[in-house]
Amino acid sequence: KPPTYKRPRLSDINAELTCILCNGYFIDATTISECLHSFCKSCIVKYLLTNKCCPICETQVHGTKPLLSIRSDKILQDIVYKLIPDVFKNEMHRRRDYYTTNTEAVPVSA
Ligand SMILES: [Zn+2]
Ligand SMILES: [Zn+2]
Repeated sequence: KPPTYKRPRLSDINAELTCILCNGYFIDATTISECLHSFCKSCIVKYLLTNKCCPICETQVHGTKPLLSIRSDKILQDIVYKLIPDVFKNEMHRRRDYYTTNTEAVPVSA
């Protein structure tokens, strides 16, 4: 009897696709080049303002310019959006709301 293909359970995948800083799925997935741990872009950028090491493994990132140690991970982000379509939907929704709000906030010059 051939082994049946089992779809991976979402709970197994979740750990790989979740940012430990915000406990949500990655948004603009960003990876630390030194150790290849990933986070949301906004989460890790904020974190590195006050920290000089990876929040997971404490690998030292670039001493003076920690942002040089991170790069956006489009492949990982695509996986999140493919496996959890709601994330994509919600994020697009959030951005639209954000930009709508911001546009309204721009003062209209005479
Ligand atoms: Zn995050
Ligand atoms: Zn790390």
